[in-house]
Amino acid sequence: MISQSAIDTLRKTEIGARGLFIDGVQIEATSGASLPVTSPIDGRPFASIADGNAADIDRAVKSARKAFEKGSWSRSAPAFRKKVLTKFAELVEKHADELAVLGVRDNGTEIGMAYKAEPLSAAGTIRYYAEAIDKVYGEIAPTADNVLGLIHKEPLGVVGVIVPWNFPLMIGAWKIAPALAAGNCVVVKPPEIASLTLLRLAELASEAGLPAGVLNVVTGRGSVTGEALGLHMDVDAIAFTGSGPVGRRLLEYSARSNLKRAFLELGGKSPNIVFADAPDLKQAAVVSANGIFRNSGQVCVAGSRLLVQASVYDRFMDELVAATTQLKVGDPLDLASDIGAVSSAEQLDKNLGFVTRATEEGARLVSGKRILTETGGSYMAPTIFENVTQDMQLAREEVFGPVLGVMRFETEEEAVRLANSTVYGLASAVWTANLSTAHRMVRAINAGVVHVNTYGGADITVPLGGVKQSGFGRDKSLHALEKYLELKTAWIAL
Ligand code: NAD
Repeated sequence: MISQSAIDTLRKTEIGARGLFIDGVQIEATSGASLPVTSPIDGRPFASIADGNAADIDRAVKSARKAFEKGSWSRSAPAFRKKVLTKFAELVEKHADELAVLGVRDNGTEIGMAYKAEPLSAAGTIRYYAEAIDKVYGEIAPTADNVLGLIHKEPLGVVGVIVPWNFPLMIGAWKIAPALAAGNCVVVKPPEIASLTLLRLAELASEAGLPAGVLNVVTGRGSVTGEALGLHMDVDAIAFTGSGPVGRRLLEYSARSNLKRAFLELGGKSPNIVFADAPDLKQAAVVSANGIFRNSGQVCVAGSRLLVQASVYDRFMDELVAATTQLKVGDPLDLASDIGAVSSAEQLDKNLGFVTRATEEGARLVSGKRILTETGGSYMAPTIFENVTQDMQLAREEVFGPVLGVMRFETEEEAVRLANSTVYGLASAVWTANLSTAHRMVRAINAGVVHVNTYGGADITVPLGGVKQSGFGRDKSLHALEKYLELKTAWIAL
């Protein structure tokens, strides 16, 4: 784990102006324009990034295509890619302190969480796909004797990666690592409010021996660079994590351009269901509080709808409020903080809008709502509303902030009905000591992930992704590799 003294030194590092990373070097944006980088810790600018445009995306895509055609990566032996990616993972680990603090200055996540979830998790993901790629075989079809049917697996070509600001390194690595391992060349469009770690990641990849042009990073505004990447005629696939509205745009861009495939990991309104026979109500309350409030609720799988069985409702709510009160909100670069800053002043305003509307619609504030802005940064205390009903905004829309809506239920059927009454289907949890209830709930809940007697923490070995309007396609696990490989048939008359 990172030490407080290392954090205190690294938080003062001068960052300066960061360029785009194209063809293995840092360069200015074509327009020469830049965007200030403001830290949510204190609301002060501490760096700038290049404000890329469509011409920069085109430069990056051309560089990626040139590298792909050259073949020194795309047609290399998987064992070679494994070696380079393993070195890459080692470098990310070696620079974990630097990457973690840089990321927190950019997006405000509490360092305890950011350290594990960002550089360490990204390094683990890169190593996982490095180790996997020389175990991927093609197939021989079961044909008659006079033919040979072969199924080859080939990289797609140029893959665009667009990620959100909550965990840019972790989510970025879920896409970049399998895409690279499969032999693709990649153009990353980082989130405009948290670009710095992905730029540094590309430098480390280059240092590890990734050939020039194989991994490019173009910073800038989503509506400009993201749109240009989505509309580019020479991008074969877009791997996206972000909001539903932008996900829909990517499908439109695909239809209006070259029918590139789009993998969409979108939002959630995940139900966390506590049955009266939960093995340990206190433990369930502590984990549930962490499952919604860590990183100020800016977690796609956050358990933002809590459903509690009526017979234990009061007892569970007491435990929940006690666990929530223990969570210390403060400077994300202080190891003692459990919850850091909200990523931006705009996001804080959005969260407060949800709080106002929940109150107007009749939900009862149980705790929280308080905001802390004395430092110039954006901080919000974990906020809990009860008496939430299905028609309220808080039950239906994703806040992406530290606001929890609680409902009570009587029966298992009612819990399933409430859990599935949403356009989303990303994550969920069930707390019960009854094995049959647990398995029935796993089958009944419409979501990509169902936790049982825990919340979060699923590692790289299992897929993550949603159903319904939470999107399609899966990150993580060996299944994610399949997205970045195309099948080709060879039918050979003997
Ligand atoms: P967002 O959709 O606003 O932005 C995501 C990315 O898209 C950013 O890089 C942004 O610059 C880019 N973008 C914006 N406009 C674009 C356009 N017109 N064309 C192309 N790209 C564009 O989302 P956000 O606010 O950064 O992140 C929060 C959202 O992400 C939430 O809805 C959250 O649930 C979701 N999320 C999902 C997962 C998951 O795994 N399912 C994980 C984390 C976050």
